[in-house]
Amino acid sequence: MNSLTITRPDDWHLHLRDGAMLAGVLPYSAAHFSRAIIMPNLVPPVVTTADAAAYRNRIEMALPPGSTFQPLMTLYLTEATDADDVARGFQEGVVRAVKLYPAGATTNSQSGVRDIEKVVPVLERMAEIGMPLCIHGEVTDADIDIFDREAVFIERVLEPLRRRVPGLRVVMEHVTTKNGVDYVLANPKGLAATITTHHLIINRNAILAGGIRPHYYCLPVAKRETHRLALRAAATSGDARFFLGTDSAPHTDASKQTACGCAGIFSAINTMACLAHVFEEEEALDRLEAFTSLNGPAFYGLPPNEARMHLKRAADPIAFPPRIETGEGPVTVFDPMFPIHWFVADEAG
Ligand SMILES: [Zn+2]
Repeated sequence: MNSLTITRPDDWHLHLRDGAMLAGVLPYSAAHFSRAIIMPNLVPPVVTTADAAAYRNRIEMALPPGSTFQPLMTLYLTEATDADDVARGFQEGVVRAVKLYPAGATTNSQSGVRDIEKVVPVLERMAEIGMPLCIHGEVTDADIDIFDREAVFIERVLEPLRRRVPGLRVVMEHVTTKNGVDYVLANPKGLAATITTHHLIINRNAILAGGIRPHYYCLPVAKRETHRLALRAAATSGDARFFLGTDSAPHTDASKQTACGCAGIFSAINTMACLAHVFEEEEALDRLEAFTSLNGPAFYGLPPNEARMHLKRAADPIAFPPRIETGEGPVTVFDPMFPIHWFVADEAG
Protein backbone atom coordinates (compact mmCIF):
# COMPACT_ATOMS: atom_id res chain seq x y z
CA MET A 1 0.00 0.00 0.00
CA ASN A 2 1.40 3.41 -0.97
CA SER A 3 -1.30 5.74 0.24
CA LEU A 4 -3.85 5.86 2.99
CA THR A 5 -6.76 8.18 3.76
CA ILE A 6 -8.02 8.42 7.31
CA THR A 7 -10.21 10.66 9.44
CA ARG A 8 -8.00 13.53 10.58
CA PRO A 9 -6.31 12.54 13.85
CA ASP A 10 -6.38 14.08 17.32
CA ASP A 11 -3.64 14.01 19.95
CA TRP A 12 -5.04 13.01 23.35
CA HIS A 13 -1.91 13.96 25.33
CA LEU A 14 0.18 16.95 24.28
CA HIS A 15 2.57 19.40 25.95
CA LEU A 16 2.66 22.81 24.28
CA ARG A 17 4.42 24.74 27.09
CA ASP A 18 4.01 28.53 26.94
CA GLY A 19 5.54 31.71 25.52
CA ALA A 20 8.31 31.30 22.94
CA MET A 21 8.31 27.48 23.18
CA LEU A 22 4.54 27.39 22.56
CA ALA A 23 4.98 29.59 19.50
CA GLY A 24 7.81 27.35 18.25
CA VAL A 25 6.12 23.95 18.59
CA LEU A 26 2.39 24.61 18.12
CA PRO A 27 2.46 24.87 14.30
CA TYR A 28 3.71 21.25 14.04
CA SER A 29 0.79 19.83 16.02
CA ALA A 30 -1.71 22.13 14.28
CA ALA A 31 -0.45 20.97 10.87
CA HIS A 32 -1.52 17.35 11.49
CA PHE A 33 -3.99 17.21 14.35
CA SER A 34 -7.46 18.75 14.55
CA ARG A 35 -7.65 18.69 18.35
CA ALA A 36 -5.39 17.91 21.28
CA ILE A 37 -5.75 17.40 25.00
CA ILE A 38 -3.38 20.03 26.39
CA MET A 39 -1.41 19.10 29.48
CA PRO A 40 -1.56 21.64 32.34
CA ASN A 41 1.95 21.30 33.83
CA LEU A 42 3.09 24.87 33.26
CA VAL A 43 4.93 26.91 35.88
CA PRO A 44 2.71 27.76 37.71
CA PRO A 45 0.32 24.95 36.72
CA VAL A 46 -3.13 25.41 35.12
CA VAL A 47 -5.27 24.83 38.20
CA THR A 48 -8.53 26.74 37.78
CA THR A 49 -11.04 27.14 34.96
CA ALA A 50 -9.89 30.77 34.67
CA ASP A 51 -6.27 29.58 34.25
CA ALA A 52 -7.40 27.14 31.54
CA ALA A 53 -9.39 29.80 29.67
CA ALA A 54 -6.40 32.16 29.74
CA TYR A 55 -4.02 29.41 28.56
CA ARG A 56 -6.42 28.40 25.79
CA ASN A 57 -6.45 32.01 24.68
CA ARG A 58 -2.65 32.14 24.55
CA ILE A 59 -2.63 28.95 22.46
CA GLU A 60 -5.22 30.34 20.06
CA MET A 61 -3.19 33.55 19.70
CA ALA A 62 -0.11 31.50 18.79
CA LEU A 63 -1.86 29.47 16.07
CA PRO A 64 -0.87 30.00 12.45
CA PRO A 65 -3.40 32.24 10.63
CA GLY A 66 -6.41 30.27 9.39
CA SER A 67 -5.68 27.21 11.55
CA THR A 68 -8.75 25.44 12.92
CA PHE A 69 -6.77 23.48 15.54
CA GLN A 70 -8.78 23.15 18.74
CA PRO A 71 -7.00 22.94 22.11
CA LEU A 72 -8.95 20.83 24.62
CA MET A 73 -7.99 22.07 28.06
CA THR A 74 -7.24 20.18 31.26
CA LEU A 75 -6.84 21.20 34.88
CA TYR A 76 -3.93 20.23 37.09
CA LEU A 77 -5.35 18.47 40.14
CA THR A 78 -4.02 19.74 43.46
CA GLU A 79 -5.05 18.97 47.00
CA ALA A 80 -6.70 22.43 47.05
CA THR A 81 -8.71 22.02 43.80
CA ASP A 82 -12.28 23.34 44.08
CA ALA A 83 -14.89 20.80 42.88
CA ASP A 84 -17.36 23.57 41.96
CA ASP A 85 -14.83 25.29 39.74
CA VAL A 86 -13.97 22.00 38.01
CA ALA A 87 -17.65 21.20 37.38
CA ARG A 88 -18.36 24.70 36.09
CA GLY A 89 -15.41 24.56 33.70
CA PHE A 90 -16.57 21.20 32.35
CA GLN A 91 -20.19 22.25 31.97
CA GLU A 92 -19.16 25.46 30.17
CA GLY A 93 -17.00 23.45 27.78
CA VAL A 94 -13.79 25.27 28.81
CA VAL A 95 -12.24 22.18 30.39
CA ARG A 96 -12.43 18.58 29.13
CA ALA A 97 -10.57 16.61 31.76
CA VAL A 98 -8.53 16.82 34.96
CA LYS A 99 -4.95 15.57 35.18
CA LEU A 100 -3.63 13.76 38.21
CA TYR A 101 0.12 13.89 38.72
CA PRO A 102 1.48 12.14 41.77
CA ALA A 103 3.72 14.78 43.38
CA GLY A 104 7.20 14.68 41.84
CA ALA A 105 6.37 12.25 39.02
CA THR A 106 7.58 14.33 36.08
CA THR A 107 8.30 17.80 34.64
CA ASN A 108 6.73 20.50 36.86
CA SER A 109 4.76 18.08 39.02
CA GLN A 110 5.80 19.53 42.38
CA SER A 111 2.21 20.71 43.02
CA GLY A 112 0.81 17.22 42.39
CA VAL A 113 -1.22 15.06 44.73
CA ARG A 114 0.41 13.47 47.80
CA ASP A 115 -2.71 12.15 49.56
CA ILE A 116 -5.45 10.79 47.27
CA GLU A 117 -8.00 11.03 50.13
CA LYS A 118 -7.76 14.83 49.87
CA VAL A 119 -8.98 14.86 46.27
CA VAL A 120 -11.77 12.30 46.61
CA PRO A 121 -14.53 14.99 46.77
CA VAL A 122 -13.35 16.39 43.41
CA LEU A 123 -13.16 12.89 41.90
CA GLU A 124 -16.66 12.04 43.12
CA ARG A 125 -18.01 15.19 41.51
CA MET A 126 -16.24 14.30 38.25
CA ALA A 127 -17.77 10.81 38.32
CA GLU A 128 -21.22 12.39 38.76
CA ILE A 129 -20.86 14.64 35.72
CA GLY A 130 -18.95 12.16 33.53
CA MET A 131 -15.71 14.15 33.42
CA PRO A 132 -12.60 12.07 32.66
CA LEU A 133 -9.55 11.92 34.94
CA CYS A 134 -6.24 11.62 33.10
CA ILE A 135 -3.65 9.91 35.27
CA HIS A 136 0.13 9.94 35.19
CA GLY A 137 0.38 6.42 36.56
CA GLU A 138 3.66 6.20 38.43
CA VAL A 139 4.39 6.11 42.13
CA THR A 140 7.17 8.46 43.18
CA ASP A 141 8.51 6.67 46.26
CA ALA A 142 12.30 6.73 46.29
CA ASP A 143 12.40 3.05 47.28
CA ILE A 144 10.54 1.88 44.16
CA ASP A 145 12.70 1.11 41.14
CA ILE A 146 11.98 3.53 38.28
CA PHE A 147 11.19 0.62 35.92
CA ASP A 148 8.56 -0.74 38.36
CA ARG A 149 6.78 2.51 39.17
CA GLU A 150 3.87 2.05 36.75
CA ALA A 151 3.12 -1.52 37.83
CA VAL A 152 3.27 -0.54 41.50
CA PHE A 153 1.03 2.47 40.87
CA ILE A 154 -1.68 0.25 39.38
CA GLU A 155 -1.68 -1.97 42.43
CA ARG A 156 -1.24 0.60 45.19
CA VAL A 157 -3.05 3.66 43.83
CA LEU A 158 -5.12 3.10 40.70
CA GLU A 159 -7.07 0.01 41.67
CA PRO A 160 -7.96 1.37 45.17
CA LEU A 161 -8.87 4.75 43.64
CA ARG A 162 -11.23 3.17 41.10
CA ARG A 163 -12.86 1.16 43.88
CA ARG A 164 -13.13 4.28 46.06
CA VAL A 165 -14.80 6.31 43.27
CA PRO A 166 -16.75 3.86 41.13
CA GLY A 167 -18.04 5.38 37.91
CA LEU A 168 -15.06 7.70 37.50
CA ARG A 169 -13.91 7.67 33.87
CA VAL A 170 -10.14 7.20 33.83
CA VAL A 171 -7.47 7.50 31.15
CA MET A 172 -4.15 5.91 32.05
CA GLU A 173 -1.87 8.30 30.25
CA HIS A 174 1.10 7.02 28.25
CA VAL A 175 1.02 3.40 29.44
CA THR A 176 4.46 1.86 29.07
CA THR A 177 4.07 -1.66 30.40
CA LYS A 178 2.31 -4.95 29.71
CA ASN A 179 0.93 -4.53 33.24
CA GLY A 180 -0.81 -1.32 32.13
CA VAL A 181 -2.19 -2.90 28.96
CA ASP A 182 -3.44 -5.95 30.87
CA TYR A 183 -5.08 -3.76 33.51
CA VAL A 184 -7.04 -1.88 30.84
CA LEU A 185 -8.01 -5.13 29.09
CA ALA A 186 -9.30 -6.59 32.36
CA ASN A 187 -11.57 -3.60 33.03
CA PRO A 188 -14.17 -3.20 30.32
CA LYS A 189 -15.93 -0.08 31.59
CA GLY A 190 -14.82 3.51 32.04
CA LEU A 191 -11.11 2.87 31.60
CA ALA A 192 -8.90 3.67 28.62
CA ALA A 193 -5.22 4.31 27.94
CA THR A 194 -3.20 6.55 25.71
CA ILE A 195 -0.03 5.23 24.12
CA THR A 196 2.77 7.42 22.78
CA THR A 197 4.46 7.09 19.43
CA HIS A 198 7.91 6.65 20.92
CA HIS A 199 6.92 3.88 23.34
CA LEU A 200 5.81 1.84 20.31
CA ILE A 201 9.29 2.28 18.82
CA ILE A 202 11.97 2.34 21.51
CA ASN A 203 12.78 0.18 24.48
CA ARG A 204 15.20 1.11 27.26
CA ASN A 205 18.23 0.11 25.21
CA ALA A 206 17.68 3.27 23.15
CA ILE A 207 18.47 5.33 26.24
CA LEU A 208 21.24 3.30 27.82
CA ALA A 209 23.00 0.85 25.49
CA GLY A 210 26.28 1.97 23.94
CA GLY A 211 26.20 5.44 25.49
CA ILE A 212 23.61 7.55 27.27
CA ARG A 213 21.15 9.22 24.89
CA PRO A 214 19.21 11.98 26.60
CA HIS A 215 16.84 12.56 23.67
CA TYR A 216 15.26 9.14 24.31
CA TYR A 217 14.74 9.87 28.00
CA CYS A 218 11.12 10.51 28.92
CA LEU A 219 8.74 9.71 31.76
CA PRO A 220 7.44 7.17 32.20
CA VAL A 221 10.80 5.83 31.08
CA ALA A 222 10.81 3.29 28.21
CA LYS A 223 10.83 -0.27 29.55
CA ARG A 224 12.21 -3.61 28.30
CA GLU A 225 11.24 -5.14 24.96
CA THR A 226 8.41 -7.37 26.23
CA HIS A 227 6.55 -4.24 27.29
CA ARG A 228 7.07 -2.49 23.96
CA LEU A 229 5.63 -5.53 22.18
CA ALA A 230 2.56 -5.49 24.45
CA LEU A 231 2.03 -1.81 23.67
CA ARG A 232 2.30 -2.50 19.94
CA ALA A 233 -0.23 -5.29 20.16
CA ALA A 234 -2.66 -3.04 22.06
CA ALA A 235 -2.28 -0.02 19.78
CA THR A 236 -2.66 -2.01 16.57
CA SER A 237 -5.50 -4.21 17.86
CA GLY A 238 -8.26 -1.73 17.05
CA ASP A 239 -9.53 -2.09 20.65
CA ALA A 240 -11.46 1.12 21.41
CA ARG A 241 -9.82 1.47 24.84
CA PHE A 242 -6.45 2.41 23.33
CA PHE A 243 -5.76 5.66 21.51
CA LEU A 244 -2.94 8.01 20.58
CA GLY A 245 -1.51 10.50 23.04
CA THR A 246 1.85 11.54 21.61
CA ASP A 247 3.11 13.06 24.88
CA SER A 248 5.18 15.23 22.56
CA ALA A 249 7.04 17.20 25.22
CA PRO A 250 9.61 19.73 24.02
CA HIS A 251 12.66 20.69 26.02
CA THR A 252 15.58 22.68 24.62
CA ASP A 253 18.72 20.74 23.78
CA ALA A 254 20.49 22.69 26.54
CA SER A 255 18.06 21.36 29.15
CA LYS A 256 18.33 17.76 27.92
CA GLN A 257 22.07 17.53 27.21
CA THR A 258 23.23 18.22 30.74
CA ALA A 259 24.20 16.39 33.94
CA CYS A 260 20.53 16.19 35.03
CA GLY A 261 18.57 16.30 31.80
CA CYS A 262 14.80 16.87 31.50
CA ALA A 263 12.37 14.09 30.61
CA GLY A 264 10.47 14.44 27.34
CA ILE A 265 10.54 13.57 23.64
CA PHE A 266 9.43 15.96 20.89
CA SER A 267 7.58 13.98 18.22
CA ALA A 268 4.77 16.26 16.98
CA ILE A 269 6.49 16.75 13.64
CA ASN A 270 6.89 13.09 12.58
CA THR A 271 4.41 11.18 14.75
CA MET A 272 1.97 10.32 11.96
CA ALA A 273 4.81 9.18 9.68
CA CYS A 274 6.29 7.02 12.45
CA LEU A 275 2.90 5.53 13.29
CA ALA A 276 2.18 4.62 9.68
CA HIS A 277 5.54 2.81 9.67
CA VAL A 278 4.71 0.93 12.89
CA PHE A 279 1.22 -0.06 11.75
CA GLU A 280 2.56 -1.15 8.37
CA GLU A 281 5.16 -3.34 10.11
CA GLU A 282 2.39 -4.92 12.17
CA GLU A 283 0.24 -5.39 9.03
CA ALA A 284 -2.39 -3.21 10.69
CA LEU A 285 -2.57 -0.08 8.50
CA ASP A 286 -6.34 -0.61 8.33
CA ARG A 287 -6.45 -0.03 12.12
CA LEU A 288 -4.34 3.15 12.22
CA GLU A 289 -7.47 5.30 11.93
CA ALA A 290 -9.10 3.70 14.98
CA PHE A 291 -6.00 4.43 17.08
CA THR A 292 -5.37 8.00 15.91
CA SER A 293 -8.80 9.30 14.98
CA LEU A 294 -11.79 7.27 16.25
CA ASN A 295 -11.20 5.70 19.67
CA GLY A 296 -10.19 8.93 21.42
CA PRO A 297 -13.24 10.99 20.42
CA ALA A 298 -15.50 8.06 21.32
CA PHE A 299 -14.08 7.93 24.86
CA TYR A 300 -14.32 11.71 25.31
CA GLY A 301 -17.87 11.80 23.89
CA LEU A 302 -16.91 13.93 20.89
CA PRO A 303 -17.64 13.32 17.19
CA PRO A 304 -14.72 12.23 15.02
CA ASN A 305 -13.30 14.98 12.82
CA GLU A 306 -14.99 15.53 9.49
CA ALA A 307 -11.73 16.43 7.77
CA ARG A 308 -9.54 13.70 6.27
CA MET A 309 -5.80 13.13 6.20
CA HIS A 310 -3.88 11.63 3.29
CA LEU A 311 -0.72 9.71 4.08
CA LYS A 312 1.64 8.65 1.32
CA ARG A 313 4.58 6.29 1.14
CA ALA A 314 7.59 7.59 -0.77
CA ALA A 315 10.14 5.32 -2.47
CA ASP A 316 13.01 7.20 -0.80
CA PRO A 317 13.20 7.95 2.93
CA ILE A 318 11.79 11.31 4.05
CA ALA A 319 14.32 13.71 5.57
CA PHE A 320 12.80 15.16 8.72
CA PRO A 321 14.83 17.96 10.34
CA PRO A 322 16.99 16.64 13.22
CA ARG A 323 15.91 19.65 15.30
CA ILE A 324 13.63 22.66 15.14
CA GLU A 325 14.45 26.19 16.20
CA THR A 326 12.33 27.89 18.85
CA GLY A 327 12.61 31.23 20.62
CA GLU A 328 13.98 29.35 23.64
CA GLY A 329 16.57 27.39 21.67
CA PRO A 330 16.81 24.29 19.47
CA VAL A 331 14.63 21.24 20.22
CA THR A 332 15.71 17.82 18.96
CA VAL A 333 13.12 15.87 16.95
CA PHE A 334 12.41 12.23 17.83
CA ASP A 335 14.60 9.96 15.69
CA PRO A 336 12.94 6.52 15.36
CA MET A 337 16.25 5.01 14.18
CA PHE A 338 14.70 3.58 11.01
CA PRO A 339 14.19 5.21 7.61
CA ILE A 340 10.72 6.81 7.41
CA HIS A 341 8.96 6.50 4.07
CA TRP A 342 5.50 7.71 5.06
CA PHE A 343 4.52 11.37 5.11
CA VAL A 344 1.41 13.50 5.55
CA ALA A 345 0.48 14.69 2.08
CA ASP A 346 -1.89 17.45 3.15
CA GLU A 347 -0.64 19.56 6.02
CA ALA A 348 -3.15 22.05 7.41
CA GLY A 349 -2.52 25.69 8.40
ZN1 LIG B 1 2.96 14.06 29.39
